[in-house]
Amino acid sequence: MTRRFDAETLVIASHNAGKLREIAALVAPFGVTCTSAGDLGLDEPAETEDSFAGNARIKAHFAAKESGLPALSDDSGICVDALDGAPGVYTADWAETPNGRDFPMAMKKTWDMLDAKGAGEPRTASFNCTLCLAWPDGHDEVFEGRVSGRLTWPMRGEQGFGYDPIFIPDGHDVTFGEMDPSEKHAMSHRAIAFAKLVEGCFDR
Ligand code: IMP
Repeated sequence: MTRRFDAETLVIASHNAGKLREIAALVAPFGVTCTSAGDLGLDEPAETEDSFAGNARIKAHFAAKESGLPALSDDSGICVDALDGAPGVYTADWAETPNGRDFPMAMKKTWDMLDAKGAGEPRTASFNCTLCLAWPDGHDEVFEGRVSGRLTWPMRGEQGFGYDPIFIPDGHDVTFGEMDPSEKHAMSHRAIAFAKLVEGCFDR
């Protein structure tokens, strides 16, 4: 039996603008007031685990404990099959530069590594998302979502964020970066995990 969310305010335990936008849009129909870890002036805890679930737990528990409110975190990333699942939990790290995150650089690096390996096409990959809803008393609920597809080069599309411009989900010809946000929200790894969260924790 999963614990239901019955508070009025939910802290979104992320400092990532793209994720905040998508999670706020997903939560909006449930009439829950959202605030973010950034709005509350919370720090970003170190993501020291080697799994999406482990890092999602770190972020949600940290924000719940610091704020005294239930907190929802998202740990996600892209796993490329020919790179043995990399960058995976290190997806954001691959974009780090001394001047902030550079996703075009990270996507180029990923494509170049596939070229260097002589990886054939389709260059299959999946987006993975783990959501963790944690309460200040230490309880949590964890939900996972995954969407499979293939990578393409060059980058296409201005929508979305992160690796969206090089990922084409199965059954489609356009990248997540070219899709209307509502179309991405209907099928993404985050949307799949979110549907499970709603089923388990939210009253419709
Ligand atoms: P983290 O969960 O904060 O460690 O970062 C996950 C990283 O994965 C993000 O910074 C994005 O680069 C990437 N990512 C996760 N979800 C998406 C998505 O929906 N579209 C594009 N990139 C994503």
